[in-house]
Amino acid sequence: VPLFALVNFFCQFDFIIMIVYPSVAEPGPYMTLPSDMTADIRTSGTNLTKAKSHNFNVILEVIRTRGPVSRTTIADITSLSRQTVQNIVSELEEAGFVRLTPGEIRGRGHPGMEVSLNPEGAFSMGFHADRHRLTAVACDMEGVVVWSDTRALASDTVQTANQTIIESVFRFRKAIPAVGERLLGVGVAAPGPFGSPSTEAIDFASFQELGADENVASLAKQVGLPVVLENDATAAAIGEWLYGVGKGTSNFAVLHFGMGLGAGFVLGGMPYRGRHNNAGEIGHMVVVPDGKPCFCGNQGCLERYLSLGSVFEHLDLRPNDPASIERVVMLCNRQDPAIASWLDEASVRLRQAVNFIEVLLDPDTIAIGGLVPDILLDSLIERAAPLLARITSAATSLPRIQRGASGPLTVARGAAAVAIDAEFAPSPVRLVL
Ligand SMILES: [Zn+2]
Repeated sequence: VPLFALVNFFCQFDFIIMIVYPSVAEPGPYMTLPSDMTADIRTSGTNLTKAKSHNFNVILEVIRTRGPVSRTTIADITSLSRQTVQNIVSELEEAGFVRLTPGEIRGRGHPGMEVSLNPEGAFSMGFHADRHRLTAVACDMEGVVVWSDTRALASDTVQTANQTIIESVFRFRKAIPAVGERLLGVGVAAPGPFGSPSTEAIDFASFQELGADENVASLAKQVGLPVVLENDATAAAIGEWLYGVGKGTSNFAVLHFGMGLGAGFVLGGMPYRGRHNNAGEIGHMVVVPDGKPCFCGNQGCLERYLSLGSVFEHLDLRPNDPASIERVVMLCNRQDPAIASWLDEASVRLRQAVNFIEVLLDPDTIAIGGLVPDILLDSLIERAAPLLARITSAATSLPRIQRGASGPLTVARGAAAVAIDAEFAPSPVRLVL
C-alpha cells in the first residue's frame, strides 16, 4: 500500500508537469480513435470555462471517428445534452469543419440530418527532417496529401533546416492559397534523443538542436502557427498506424531506420512518447558488450549494427551522397558479399530487437521501415527468420515483423496528423484545467 501511494503521488506530479509545459511542446496523447474506443469518450464539467472547448473537441472526435453520425447519436455517445450538441455542431458547421447531409431514409418520413467531417475544413503540414534531407507534406483533416516536397539540405545545421521549413510553409501557402489560409499547425519530426545535456557532442544520426524547446518556439513564431515536435520514430509509428500496416491495430511498434535506429509505439490505441519525447531510443540499447563505440558514450549500441548509418559505414559510403543509396540497392540486387556480410550481422541484431520489443510490449505486429531501400529491408527480414521464440503461443493473423507499407512520406504524414491532433483532439489534461 505505501508503494502504491508513492507511485500514485508521482503519477499526479507528472500530470502537473504536463500542465505546466505548453501544449505546443507536448501534444495531447489522443489520436484518431478506433471506432470501438469512442464509446469511452466522456465529457467532464470540472471547469465550466474550459468545458466548452473540451466539448467542442470531444464532439469533433466523435464525428471524425463515427461520421456520418446523427446529432442524437453524438449526444448518446458523449453524454452531452442534445441542445449542447446542436449548438456546437452549428458552430463547427459555420467554421467549415463539418457538414450536414441527409441521412439514409429509414421507414416513412423525412430522413434526419447527419454530420460528417469536412476534410477540407482544415489542413496541417508535416515535416520529416534529418541532417541531409527535408520532406514536407500538407494534409487535409483525413490525412490526404494535397502537396508534398522533398529536398536535400545544403548543410547539416539547424539554421539550414529551420530556413527550409519556413520556406516550405511559404511555398505551400503560395502554391494553393485557398488551402494555405486554412493551415492550422505544423508538425516537425526529427531524430532524437531530445533534451540531451551534451548538446556539444553533435551526432550525425540525431538532430537534437532542431528539437530543442527554444528552437521549436522560435519556429512557431516565424511561421506564425503552432509547431509540435515529434520524435521521427513515433511519427513513423503514427503514419504506419493511420495509413499503413498498423491500421486497425491497438498495440503496434515500428523499427525506424534512419542514420540511427529508433522505435515508435502505439499502445492501447495511443502514441506512446515517454516523458521527453524520447521513448523508443532503442538504437542505444547495448547488444554487444565492448562492441563498436557509439557517440552516446557506450559501446556496442544496436544502431551501430542495425541502421542505414551502419550500412554506409560497413560499405565505406558517404551518408550525404545521394549515390550511396543507389550503390546499396545495386549491391543488394546482385547479392554482393559486401552487403551479405552486413546482413549476416544485422539480422542477428534485428532478432534481438524484435525479441526485446515483443517481451516488453506484446504488440500485434512490428513494422520495419524508414529511409532505406525496400530491397534492403526485405533481405534483412528474410534473413532474420527464424525469429527467436515468442513467449506467447496465442495465434495471431498478423506477421510478427513486416516491412512498412505507407511509403516515403510516412513520417511527414505522421507529423501532420500530430499537428491536427494537437489542435483538436480531446486531451485528458483539459479535464483538470
Ligand atoms: Zn549509443
